[in-house]
Amino acid sequence: MLLCVSASAQEPKALPQADERYKADILVMVAHPDDEAAVTPYVARALDEHKRIAVVFGTRGSSGSNEAGAEQAAALGAVREIEARNALTTLGITSVWFLSGKDTASQNVLQSLANWDHGETLEQLVRLVRLTRPEVILTFLPGTFIGEDHGDHQASGVLATEAFDLAGNPAVFPEQIAGPMKRLEPLLENLRPWQVKKIYYFADAEREDIFRASADRKDGHFRRWVGRRSALRARQVRGWRQRDRRHF
Ligand SMILES: [Zn+2]
Repeated sequence: MLLCVSASAQEPKALPQADERYKADILVMVAHPDDEAAVTPYVARALDEHKRIAVVFGTRGSSGSNEAGAEQAAALGAVREIEARNALTTLGITSVWFLSGKDTASQNVLQSLANWDHGETLEQLVRLVRLTRPEVILTFLPGTFIGEDHGDHQASGVLATEAFDLAGNPAVFPEQIAGPMKRLEPLLENLRPWQVKKIYYFADAEREDIFRASADRKDGHFRRWVGRRSALRARQVRGWRQRDRRHF
């Protein structure tokens, strides 16, 4: 009697590893498309240091103003989403996601969290933290500060802080951690808990007497960043010059 067992059948099957394409060093969590401009001097330096960046927006910015065309409301949100993706891709940032939050015309963070479906958007962000496994999160200060204190900006900081605290706990959104054991369990996500090491906050304050430019950045990343039409371009450029990495 012959017993034939192939070598390959005896080798333990390697378990799939997390997808390295989405591993990030830094995850930027902001509210609206173009908010990331508040932190781009730091991001530009990180890109020069070959850090991997992921960006998450809370909304698509559908309540903003359109300086390029007639589109408004949800259509403007679609425009702003593609503009943000194109601008970030120009910098080499392709890990870009949008949560399902809705623009909220309020300075009250609780209004924004209610309008964003707080629990649902938190679940979405925890999922993205577990997927991208960042070492550091950069986000808006979740509170009122000198200057503007848009509720959505604060809400993005609240969600980022909660995700920082929760993504490493396997008891939080455990269906994200569970993996399918058999067919027809396609709702289980097979992620792993992930504890981010640090979280840094930046403000949306625009007081020039407090936040004064220390450098007029004209390097390559800066020039490529200014590529959108519907957003307030002048404000974007001013933001670059006002906010340097001393914020952190
Ligand atoms: Zn904003």
